[in-house]
Amino acid sequence: MHDVLPADQPWWDRVSRVVRDLADFYNFGRIETPILESAALFERGVGQDTDMVSKEMYFVKTKGGDVLALRPENTASVVRAYLEHHLSRVSQPQRLWYQGLFFRHENPQAGRFRQFSQVGFEIIGGANDPIYDAQIVMVFSRLLEELKIRNTVLKVNSIGCRVCRPLYKRQLQAHYKRYEKKICADCVYRLKTNPLRLLDCKDEACKGIKEKAPNFFDKLCVTCSNHLKTVLEYLDELAVSYALDNQLVRGIDYYSRTVFEFFVEGPGSEVGALPGGGRYDYLVETLGGRMTPAVGGACGIERLIHVMKAQEVKLPQKNQKKVFLIHVGEQAKKKSLRIIESLRSAGIPVVESLGRESLKAQLKMADREGAELALIFGQREIFEENIIVRNLKNSLQETVALDKLVEEIKRRLRNS
Ligand SMILES: [Zn+2]
Ligand SMILES: [Zn+2]
Repeated sequence: MHDVLPADQPWWDRVSRVVRDLADFYNFGRIETPILESAALFERGVGQDTDMVSKEMYFVKTKGGDVLALRPENTASVVRAYLEHHLSRVSQPQRLWYQGLFFRHENPQAGRFRQFSQVGFEIIGGANDPIYDAQIVMVFSRLLEELKIRNTVLKVNSIGCRVCRPLYKRQLQAHYKRYEKKICADCVYRLKTNPLRLLDCKDEACKGIKEKAPNFFDKLCVTCSNHLKTVLEYLDELAVSYALDNQLVRGIDYYSRTVFEFFVEGPGSEVGALPGGGRYDYLVETLGGRMTPAVGGACGIERLIHVMKAQEVKLPQKNQKKVFLIHVGEQAKKKSLRIIESLRSAGIPVVESLGRESLKAQLKMADREGAELALIFGQREIFEENIIVRNLKNSLQETVALDKLVEEIKRRLRNS
């Protein structure tokens, strides 16, 4: 788990702002669900045999004997909320987005932490229309674009439906059975519990066997194959480039048909997948609702920031002109408090260093802060009810009456 220090906040602000603007533009409404949910929700929704649930989940046992989990992901929670609040009775599809904290007990790596932040977009309900798959992919594509992340690669695959996937799974199992003695221990387990995940193995021993595995594209039923084709046509229309990858499977049980992941090449690539997601037409039903088409995706914010830094992305400069208030003497220090508040009420950004006494030290601070103007307030100014306004760029200064100060500063900041 990690701390986010003040120096890093501009990166977080940038990501949050871009996400919020995209959500507004594409008409997604924000949803917030609790960090703690019943563990059973993820066991049913995400799948008991997935790494996320079987190895990475944090459990909390209550005195009353409930077993809760720190949420490892949000789609199951969003669907739970969709059902609990009868969102199927309002306009369909529901376009929802979220940003929040998630928890997975995995090995920390570049851009990955056990407590992490994710943003996600979901389209739930309505028709089972490939346009929604394309729109979800597009939102994430725009997100990367807006954040100035370069060298991105989008991989797309279809993992079929209830009709064609079991057939493919059996063929995959039959293929791997022949090599049962050669494959890694994880794959021996996957072969029994979660055969699609065999295609996810990075072990050298399994590489050759994976390459010869049957191709899912050949096994898709007509409906799934047409669905994929239409998604790709829409992506072409949106000018979002992609690569088909028939071995892309995601480590979660609820996906069907479209799955996608974005990666970067070159600097930053060590974080692995950036946004990823897919269609989950069976999840609402699994969690007790009626069969409801849905599609969505999520992205870790720490990973985005890691890549932005690795690619040396420049954040947009905040061009806010500041005023620095310098006090000389105890009396002036006390009276400065009111001056600061009057400037704040007028919307003028003020920086001060009231804890420092020396004039020199304060001027140095003003310089370091990049302030436009320094206001110098001392014993004489208290008596005369005025203040010295110094332009820090050219060191010209003049005295301004205190009751004209706000007006004068506003004028100067406008004109500088
Ligand atoms: Zn199918
Ligand atoms: Zn393996």
